[in-house]
Amino acid sequence: MRVEQFAPEDQKHLLPQPGGDLIYRCLDCGTAQGIDQLVYTCPECGAVLLIEDRAFERLKEVPGHEWQRIFDLRRMLNVPALKGIFRYAELMAPVIPLDSVLFLGEGHTPLVEASERLKQAVGADFCFKNDGQNPSASFKDRGMAVALSYINYLVKHQDAGQVLSICASTGDTSAAAALYAAYLAPEVKSAVLLPRGKVTPAQLSQPLGSGAQVFEIPGVFDDCMKVVEYMAERFQVALLNSKNPWRILGQESYSYEIAQDLDYGLAGRVVLVPIGNAGNISAVMSGFMKLLELNIIDQLPKVIGVQSEHSDPVFRYYQEKDPDKRVWRPVTVQPSVAQAAMIGNPVSMPRVVELARRYEELAGAERVFVVQVSEQAIMDHMLLANRHGHVVCTQGGESLAGLVKAIEAGVVGPGEKAICDATAHHLKFLGFQQMYFDDAFPEEFEVEPKPELMNQPQEVAALGEDELPAPGRPLAGEAFDKFVEATAAELARLLDLEER
Ligand SMILES: *Cc1c(COP(=O)(O)O)cnc(C)c1O
Ligand SMILES: [Zn+2]
Repeated sequence: MRVEQFAPEDQKHLLPQPGGDLIYRCLDCGTAQGIDQLVYTCPECGAVLLIEDRAFERLKEVPGHEWQRIFDLRRMLNVPALKGIFRYAELMAPVIPLDSVLFLGEGHTPLVEASERLKQAVGADFCFKNDGQNPSASFKDRGMAVALSYINYLVKHQDAGQVLSICASTGDTSAAAALYAAYLAPEVKSAVLLPRGKVTPAQLSQPLGSGAQVFEIPGVFDDCMKVVEYMAERFQVALLNSKNPWRILGQESYSYEIAQDLDYGLAGRVVLVPIGNAGNISAVMSGFMKLLELNIIDQLPKVIGVQSEHSDPVFRYYQEKDPDKRVWRPVTVQPSVAQAAMIGNPVSMPRVVELARRYEELAGAERVFVVQVSEQAIMDHMLLANRHGHVVCTQGGESLAGLVKAIEAGVVGPGEKAICDATAHHLKFLGFQQMYFDDAFPEEFEVEPKPELMNQPQEVAALGEDELPAPGRPLAGEAFDKFVEATAAELARLLDLEER
């Protein structure tokens, strides 16, 4: 629908009005800085930042049920800039005018109800939110849509000149960054740093295809991250890791969509998110808190972060129940099938600590948990889910394995319903499936394939001495008939078919 087709009283808030008073806020010392420049750390103390809207209170003048209605009406509105996550512009980045908003198809990924058989098999009631259905096939597109829209605004309206965007990546950040930067070429150019051999072939091909300059760095993600942090402090580059707080704003849309798709009723809901650099879980908590403050929802769902045994610094930190005794210690990561989350020193850890504290304060109860799962459980749950008609990557398998763990630990009880974040598309991580099917995991992964979850293509043997078709050399006539008959007979035997 077009704006003028809505009832006059509905037109008032239909298009978000540019506004807000955004600042970068230091999470440690509280220092505020204007947003006219891209900065990533506090000039006073070096801590990470969040973007805060000092005029957030103005949004409370619109009652929560009215916001619900506005978001629901916007679903029907055919304005390209509002087709994606900017449907929630007021909650994220209201300073970006619609003419600067990038929309490449991100957001509004489906909540897919788990098949009944799968629910029975894992003993849980849940759905997946398929964030692999984003344009570069991971949730990272949400954050990039806001970060690059803001850069677009700086280029278009603030004469920012040419921008070189840069990021370190476990694969999906670089795919998303390169895609959105390419859309803004030549004003925006993109460089990405990848840990050599630690991203999948699909993830490596993505930024190459988008025309980014791709650099392979020895070590693991944490090493690449240090290099780009160093560069962002000293050179004219736009850092696109989730250290960039604009990314966090965009990723809040994940929470907004869950709320909207559940008609804003989040009672008894549990959201499971794999943790790597901890940007996503920060955004998810921040998003739900904004919704609660505006009375758009009336309860905060439980949020459960999931980490692999091979990369679990956040889990270890929260093992200590007394907040005063918790000690932050980065870990040295071991090879993990949840490779996109294989991070030993998450940049957003200070955000997690602060936002989890606020979240529980606002909820008045323990509401944030972190569970740890084995590599084996990640693989088994990914394969099990996909065998039941889902499209789940290794990190999505990690979410589901985390749900099972959370139920065992009594963190999730009967009557609660979970949303497992399937953070990327399965097709990016086929190598791990293949290693499972081939029983070829290097020992350090600690994965033993379960025969019932393995699968291999089968040769149709027993065609004997017959002539066979080949590419460019088709059969014809009697030879072809004979081939079809013999092949069908063999398949019927293998499939145990009865004649009709
Ligand atoms: C980046 C990523 C994660 C981890 O998210 P963080 O925000 O870094 O915690 C999980 N899964 C996939 C597929 C990712 O690309
Ligand atoms: Zn500070």
